[in-house]
Amino acid sequence: MRGKLITAAILLLLIATACKTKEKADEAPNEDSYSAAREALVEEAIVGRGITTPAVIEAMNAVPRHEFVPDDYLAQAYADHPLPIGYGQTISQPYIVALMTDALNPDESDVILEVGTGSGYQAAVLAEIVDRVYTIEIVGALAEQAGDRLDRLGYTNVEVLHDDGYFGWEDHAPFDAIIVTAAPDHIPPPLLTQLKDGGKMVIPVGPVGGYQELWLVEREGDDYTNISLGGVRFVPLTRDLRNE
Ligand code: SAH
Repeated sequence: MRGKLITAAILLLLIATACKTKEKADEAPNEDSYSAAREALVEEAIVGRGITTPAVIEAMNAVPRHEFVPDDYLAQAYADHPLPIGYGQTISQPYIVALMTDALNPDESDVILEVGTGSGYQAAVLAEIVDRVYTIEIVGALAEQAGDRLDRLGYTNVEVLHDDGYFGWEDHAPFDAIIVTAAPDHIPPPLLTQLKDGGKMVIPVGPVGGYQELWLVEREGDDYTNISLGGVRFVPLTRDLRNE
């Protein structure tokens, strides 16, 4: 009898523990599950697709992408595709962020200009690697949200400006590198002049919704060399300063 009671008690205990574990698994993702998902993404979509620069891989592993996506899309924060961030805009696909960062060959002493802050994710990835990032966003609400988010996450080396990035940011020029994350139909001349001698720019160019080519532009004195990095799809670079 006593033996049976003890067996029953052990069984009950086992069931209770099993239920608790199940409860845990059903809970919303936590920091640990986000890090595991992030590591898996970096392994498959970044390293697995040929990005080898240690600083870029470390930065992609360090930035919490789930902090940059709207709540409704949290479950997809570590999937390798773009996601909506409101105002008709998107946070870029992680592989493309890594590819563009890698193409700039960033050095830790670099000062970089980004045109198209969006969520601030690409700026954070750059800020993990370089000394200073200046980033411009044309939609007022996105500029404000990204600035607050980057402050909260401790990215003190990023400055966000609400403006039309077509004209660059004269006060902080010239830049070691420029990254444009919205597609114009031509390369804005002010960005070419604000690039340092020996500097690099990555920029998608092409018609709205049509074929866009990602260009790596390298400046040597007054000579600019364009190297194609392939086809991409970005939201258009607009010229209309919005304050919503
Ligand atoms: N780099 C972003 C994704 C960019 S989406 C990220 O990591 O989340 C492109 C962004 O460029 C959008 O937020 C859009 O509003 C902005 N944009 C479009 N035209 C612009 C312009 N002329 N100047 C500055 N930002 C612009």
